[in-house]
Amino acid sequence: MSIDLSAVTANYRLVQKKASSARVGAVVKADAYGLGARTIAPVLADAGCRDFFVAHLAEAMELVSCLSGSARLYVLNGLAPGMESLCADARIFPVLNTLEQARDWQRHAAGIGRKLPAVLQVDTGMSRLGLGADELETLLREPGFLDWVELRVVMSHLACADIPGATANAEQVRRFADMAACVPEAERSLANSAAALGMPDHVGDLVRPGLVLYGIDPLSGATTGLHSAIALDARVIQVRSVPAGVGVGYDHDYVTQSPRRLATLSVGYADGWPRALGGKGAVWMNGVRLPLVGRVSMDTCTADVTELPEGSLQPGDTVELIGPHQSVLELAIQLDTAPHAVLTGLGKRFEKRFTSHAL
Ligand SMILES: *Cc1c(COP(=O)(O)O)cnc(C)c1O
Repeated sequence: MSIDLSAVTANYRLVQKKASSARVGAVVKADAYGLGARTIAPVLADAGCRDFFVAHLAEAMELVSCLSGSARLYVLNGLAPGMESLCADARIFPVLNTLEQARDWQRHAAGIGRKLPAVLQVDTGMSRLGLGADELETLLREPGFLDWVELRVVMSHLACADIPGATANAEQVRRFADMAACVPEAERSLANSAAALGMPDHVGDLVRPGLVLYGIDPLSGATTGLHSAIALDARVIQVRSVPAGVGVGYDHDYVTQSPRRLATLSVGYADGWPRALGGKGAVWMNGVRLPLVGRVSMDTCTADVTELPEGSLQPGDTVELIGPHQSVLELAIQLDTAPHAVLTGLGKRFEKRFTSHAL
């Protein structure tokens, strides 16, 4: 997997330009969506990013040593009970999603005698994480809470940001304004990639893009100026010619109707190459679409390479899985899934090669 760090930087700057009234953070959870957070986060820090969001405390701990002291790390899922001292000692910011998380953080702060910073998440209509309006009121009235917890940011998350005109967005924006007004001293954070690009007037003070930094358009192709950051190839292991009537792969899901040339590729579902692409996806070589035939196996899959001139594809050659002819977004649309799911599925088995060049 080749990862273009200059593209990541350029995409960060693009978000900064679009959401010009806000500070732009970066969501680097799930190892920066599989691209390597320990490389990506410092690159974003060089581009001016100071706010880094991950899902778990362990992910934040992984990044402490590769970021300078001026960077802030936020744990979106908040803290599991008992993790407060680890988090506080590492100067990581928890997102307080529930009354329990908020009270545990307050108790820990009081216990060590140090006021602790945090982000407070409110639920404005996604029904996923965060305090409801009543809980917010309860929390802010609790004695000592604001003495021990410094609420730096109030955040919420939009359910339909990838549908810019959705009425749910306006409703969530309105509720967020009302709830955030209860914590006037805190910064506001509402926008993921789609919202940062699609509704730049409502992003608040701190935006939280993930996907777009990695070069994938959250608005399904409506965004211009994005730089794709990922290229993924697979090696050809074996090429064979088969007659008509031959079964290919597990359960002989596919049987040749005519003589074909087939290439076995060194990539399978254990690499995160989706099994659902078997029989409907494709790979590319020299601008030629090579359909995947039969099932995707754990470590291999098979492409029909009959369209290529005979002898032009040899074992050791590579074909394009993701690149100029096939984007993560196109794969996601083909699979009826989110680009986030395709991207985070890839990764661990591929050797990462980071590149950098003038854009
Ligand atoms: C994952 C996540 C984001 C980033 O979403 P993208 O669609 O990748 O930009 C932002 N905010 C929260 C709360 C998230 O969980």
